[in-house]
Amino acid sequence: MRILLLGGTADARRLATLLTEAGHHVVSSLAGRTRDPLLPAGAVRIGGFGGVDGLAAYLRDKRIDVLIDATHPFAATMSEHAAAACGALRVPRLVVDRPGWTASPGDVWHRVASLGDAAALLPRLGRRVFLTTGRQGIAAFADLDECWFLARSVEPPGAVAPQRLEVLLDRGPFTVDGERRLMAGHRIDVLVTKDSGGPDAKLVAARELGIPVLMVNRPPAPALGPLDRVVGVEAVPGEIG
Ligand code: NAP
Repeated sequence: MRILLLGGTADARRLATLLTEAGHHVVSSLAGRTRDPLLPAGAVRIGGFGGVDGLAAYLRDKRIDVLIDATHPFAATMSEHAAAACGALRVPRLVVDRPGWTASPGDVWHRVASLGDAAALLPRLGRRVFLTTGRQGIAAFADLDECWFLARSVEPPGAVAPQRLEVLLDRGPFTVDGERRLMAGHRIDVLVTKDSGGPDAKLVAARELGIPVLMVNRPPAPALGPLDRVVGVEAVPGEIG
């Protein structure tokens, strides 16, 4: 099977290992946003395809049998392009299931639809903010002079950023102990995150510290076509056969 694996996530790296070990020909695709990316097993290509048409041309030229969308749930454009190109060429699409987070007793979560809505609500929830929306999300908070931010991202933020900002360059996985120490040490009083799903150490730490969470909801996922399926990471090799 020739597989195109749209990645940029820990799930995608895990899948690349599973599928190459099972003897499949896998090409992982990364957007190229990170200067020093963690590289998956197997072949890797880096950079955009050039929209739906570019992706369709790639699928055709490389005679891809199945596309796996293991991108981050907030990579909405890439997922839409994958759905459109696969639908047009009748290439099956496996979408890797990554459930969103659900609140537990003791959590104080405020859900919003967008980063803009998060920025509008934030000053009413706290003034010392742990911002974990990723580098591209930091600009949305640039006008909030009344808040102080600890922003954690893999890459440094761009020029549009809040005035009162400390940047922490780091990538997971993180532990609950570490997150608790980080938030307590910086006297954080509100956590901002996207509903990425996956490891939830920062959410557990926020619950234990009684810190409210401002959570940005996911963008809608593209509709599934007749050849498409949603599958958990570990079940993907079995689905491919
Ligand atoms: P996006 O807004 O959905 O995509 C914008 C454009 O970037 C796409 O149209 C495509 O360009 C290119 N692109 C995105 N993902 C690609 C991939 N895996 N391979 C090749 N081209 C890709 O994407 P994004 O939110 O900026 O995310 C970029 C990458 O970072 C994704 O791989 C995603 O899994 C990863 N990531 C994103 C987040 C997040 O919060 N968004 C968090 C962690 C990791 P063309 O139209 O030219 O093909």
